[in-house]
Amino acid sequence: MNTIGHLINGTIVNDNGRTQDVYNPSTGEVSKQVALASKATVEEAIAAAQAAFPAWRNTPPLKRARVMFRFKELLEQNAEKICQMIGEEHGKIVHDAMGELSRGIENVEYACGVPELLKGEHSKNVGPAIDSWSEFQPLGVVAGITPFNFPAMVPLWMFPMAIACGNTFVLKPSERDPGSTLFIAQLLMEAGLPAGVINVVNGDKEAVDTLLDDARVQAVSFVGSTPIAEYIYSRASANGKRCQALGGAKNHAIVMPDADMDNAVSALTGAAFGSSGERCMALSVAVAVGDAAADALIEKMQAQMQSLKVGAFHDKQNDFGPVITQAHMEKVVGYINSAEKQGAEIVVDGRNPSVPGYEQGFFVGGTLIDRVTPEMLCYREEIFGPVLLVVRVETMQEAMDLIDAHEYGNGTCIFTRDGEAARYFSDNIQVGMVGINVPLPVPVAYHSFGGWKRSLFGDLYAYGPDAVRFYTRRKTVTQRWPSAGVREGAQFAFPS
Ligand code: NAD
Repeated sequence: MNTIGHLINGTIVNDNGRTQDVYNPSTGEVSKQVALASKATVEEAIAAAQAAFPAWRNTPPLKRARVMFRFKELLEQNAEKICQMIGEEHGKIVHDAMGELSRGIENVEYACGVPELLKGEHSKNVGPAIDSWSEFQPLGVVAGITPFNFPAMVPLWMFPMAIACGNTFVLKPSERDPGSTLFIAQLLMEAGLPAGVINVVNGDKEAVDTLLDDARVQAVSFVGSTPIAEYIYSRASANGKRCQALGGAKNHAIVMPDADMDNAVSALTGAAFGSSGERCMALSVAVAVGDAAADALIEKMQAQMQSLKVGAFHDKQNDFGPVITQAHMEKVVGYINSAEKQGAEIVVDGRNPSVPGYEQGFFVGGTLIDRVTPEMLCYREEIFGPVLLVVRVETMQEAMDLIDAHEYGNGTCIFTRDGEAARYFSDNIQVGMVGINVPLPVPVAYHSFGGWKRSLFGDLYAYGPDAVRFYTRRKTVTQRWPSAGVREGAQFAFPS
């Protein structure tokens, strides 16, 4: 059976140590193995990145950008192959994988503008014949640790900008679907990146902890679940590293009584069930304001959900595929069971869907649960499955209080025709990314992505302008060139 190895110093290697099964979630079968890097293997990758740093740091930004231009072309040429690989290991439908890849490529396009982004700031005559400027220098070796749900896009949030800024990189992808991520890194090598500038180590906690503890690693970008994000942030910070750690979510949509209900229902259907709900920006809670809005929403959702198709990744007729593992499938079903037990109403039941020919696949059908209350387990925790909860409230303020009280603050949206209400909502809600009649308000690549509260640990968001700041260190230089030597005596106070 094929074993996915590591990319170290430009070469694919396998340390012949521990391995883990990689599944095809559509069939439920083990399709390959992934090598789990030992501490020594990760240290080898860090050493390769460290050795490559001085030359890469001094490579003109324009030349670094040219590698990104070629990389973008290669990603586009290989898009179908990449999406096939994502589908095989993750399970998402090919057209959904294409959407993920396109959003990832947008980050490469942003990185192509790095000479402009690194221009810095300059002030002439800050004192008599004294000039001062700030420049943005790369940090050195940077690490990225990524989740299973976007094996192409989330790594592409990180390494193109880090590398374009002059850093070298060690990426630790999710061990559950590592194939497409490794292939994408190989394409970057093919684009002309010198050996050692990008390295990929596959692995688990042992690999991650090595990256967090090694003094040569200057900064860590993490995306994954909140408990691990918190762990990564505290351990990396305690070791003196810069860290951004993006965590989980529970994204609410407020449905106002004046909303265009057909529009809201279509938007909610795509955002709740697309990618089997395995998106950190998935809409998992609809908060209906007033019983009339709730009843209309439930009725239309029920009708729309009759045509939802869950099935294998390669069939473009399907709306969404399986969840990632058998264990995760059982966990999602467990949340539905608990909702039922705690008194919620299962309106559309996705437990045990029929997917002919794929009986062993990890499928959960679209599920709609009404009359959910904030104490219920299904409301408090992130389900990360194709499950939409409906909570009924009386007023918009009540809906906003509910959102603000939740531990997560990643994304949210409101469906309304009232501009004043929408403006009040976006201004005051305690959430990092807000949509107004837009269900998945994922910022484009030239903005930055991040949640509030326990959805992000750290100060800077992922990608976009914040990535330039995260992957560089400001240095401010003040200089003068006296024409005939120093002509002032010692000064004992700041010149004013
Ligand atoms: P995860 O936290 O289980 O894993 C993420 C990464 O951390 C993987 O590379 C994994 O190998 C590593 N890891 C896992 N356990 C570890 C441990 N004990 N010590 C060290 N490293 C460990 O997350 P996942 O299940 O792969 O991804 C789904 C989660 O990611 C969801 O909670 C989702 O909301 C979140 N997510 C967030 C965003 C965002 O931008 N906020 C984006 C995508 C996914």
